[in-house]
Amino acid sequence: MINLNCQNSQILVFYHSPTLPKKHNHVVFEFDNFNVIYNDPRRFGFFQLIENKKALNERFKHLGPEPFDKKFNFNYVMSFLKDKNKEIKSFLLDQRFVSGIGNIYASEILFLSKIDPFKPAKLLTKNECKKIILNSKKILHRAIIKGGSSIRNFQNISGTLGSYQKEFKVYQQEGNKCKATGCLDIIKKKIVSNRSTFFCDSCQK
Ligand SMILES: [Zn+2]
Repeated sequence: MINLNCQNSQILVFYHSPTLPKKHNHVVFEFDNFNVIYNDPRRFGFFQLIENKKALNERFKHLGPEPFDKKFNFNYVMSFLKDKNKEIKSFLLDQRFVSGIGNIYASEILFLSKIDPFKPAKLLTKNECKKIILNSKKILHRAIIKGGSSIRNFQNISGTLGSYQKEFKVYQQEGNKCKATGCLDIIKKKIVSNRSTFFCDSCQK
């Protein structure tokens, strides 16, 4: 149920701005006093009609917990990764393991955790698993406070840009000096399965 009063319905005028392209408006929900417009230039999203609660649970049962979920805990992470040969970075992006971590934040989480993104997941120590859990929450929480990361032109519904990109330690920092105190290395970039990974060889083992 969407309930908007006059005051906060102002935020919805964003997509009625004459300067914004309308070609990415894919779905419009028309209410008596306002419209909710689904605008998706990158076409990552979709809509699906789900008939009942059983079907809803079925639809999402393959998804892993979100980073803020209590289920994303030490026992879960250890037992999920214990026999996995693939590199840890790919699991942070794998929604069956954890939902909602994208490519930017996966690189940032692994840098903060001092873990080599290409380390086989099953070789992570207990302490490294704990760091991943803690730092996933930490980085995402900070990014949410900062309104997300505006790489090209992302804006929130009031038209404001996110500013977490100013705090990137490794993402898109290739060739720059590592920001860890005392580290003299430079940030490197490697492309694996079409996704860029940013890291510091000296800080991440
Ligand atoms: Zn470093």
